[in-house]
Amino acid sequence: MKKVLIIGAGGVGRVVAHKCVQAVKDGYFSEVMLASRTREKCDSIAAELSIPVKTARVDADNVPELTELLLAEKPDLVINVALPYQDLTIMDACLEAGVHYLDTANYEPRDTAKFEYSWQWAYQDKFSEKGLMALLGSGFDPGVTNVFTARMVKHHFDRVDEIDIIDANAGSHGQPFATNFNPEINIREVTAPCRHWEDGKWVETGALKTKHSFDFPEGIGPMNIYRMYHEEMESLVKHFPTIKKAQFWMTFSDNYLKHLEVLQNVGMTRIDEVEYNGVKIVPLQFLKAVLPDPGSLGPLTKGRTCIGVVARGVKGGQEKKTYIYNICDHEACYRETNSQAISYTTGVPAVVGAIMMATGKWMGKGVFNMEQFDPDPFLKTLADYGLPWVEVSADDIPAL
Ligand code: NDP
Repeated sequence: MKKVLIIGAGGVGRVVAHKCVQAVKDGYFSEVMLASRTREKCDSIAAELSIPVKTARVDADNVPELTELLLAEKPDLVINVALPYQDLTIMDACLEAGVHYLDTANYEPRDTAKFEYSWQWAYQDKFSEKGLMALLGSGFDPGVTNVFTARMVKHHFDRVDEIDIIDANAGSHGQPFATNFNPEINIREVTAPCRHWEDGKWVETGALKTKHSFDFPEGIGPMNIYRMYHEEMESLVKHFPTIKKAQFWMTFSDNYLKHLEVLQNVGMTRIDEVEYNGVKIVPLQFLKAVLPDPGSLGPLTKGRTCIGVVARGVKGGQEKKTYIYNICDHEACYRETNSQAISYTTGVPAVVGAIMMATGKWMGKGVFNMEQFDPDPFLKTLADYGLPWVEVSADDIPAL
């Protein structure tokens, strides 16, 4: 029985809180607490829950403040669903207070939109020496996509040669322009140069320059997908070195791309400071302040998401293709947790990762990515907690 502290009371934090309550009722956790920068947001989430959940205000950029909270509350595990900027400070506080750590996105410095695990992998010895575990990227992508790949390696292939991670939001919120998770983080990610892995090295191309159509299953149908960089490729090609080619694809509507192009052209996506009326502002942070709060999109969003991995490789001397995916319905997520499917598909795997750690099914000393553990217990619990998945092996799965 473990006490869990959630840090971050945004869209994902709301889903994590709801699903942690389910995990308490199922006997995995003894107690749940929610802390964030704005205490009122924690309180309003706590008011939706069916068991009492203690709340607190904390500045997760401040290691002494975080450490004080951890020492006072004595959680066994922190689920970090604040922003990627806070990963290292929260890891530092976990080391100080002797608490296990889990997050859903890799650390990013504020001044460069750079997505890599180097900063967090550098904590390997510190966590190991303290007998603690840090589980990195336990969302959907990264997260479940890593575990889908681990399942391919374990059950479907003797050798995986190529993977395509394909993320579709086939839903709509009816707003002229809005992002479905934190706008600052989302826009930093999609405007970053594209990189994919090919023949042992990273190949860089312009952001969203490569486009295909992919025919999504279960009635979703064909949608345009655009190649971009995504962090899970870095750990997957490290841990599964037979992978010769790894690409990540995401759907964007023409409307989203049109708005993004204009915002980029006029400088509104810049992440450096500009002076305005004697005040220094970061244009992208100002843009975030005027865009719809992703949390407000929950009741407006209809349709489904489809996120999965296509792998190509060899089994028993034969070439083979397998596709594993999850389909998630925005409105069903909202009925259950007051959040749309993007927050839901991130929050549920965070809680499932925490359950893996709490039960000892996934436990070790040091810093780990998801594919380093046995995929089977995770995928079973994932389905039980609301994200069932489907796998198909067929020759006609399209190559990208
Ligand atoms: P939101 O912006 O909705 O929520 C972030 C929360 O963190 C807010 O409550 C915010 O507080 C809080 N926060 C920010 N800074 C601090 C701080 N210094 N101290 C304490 N709390 C702070 O983001 P989302 O819920 O959409 O996303 C949460 C995380 O999930 C992000 O890291 C994102 O990258 C990740 N993510 C991962 C995905 C995956 O599949 N792996 C997919 C989607 C998201 P306040 O309310 O006061 O601003």
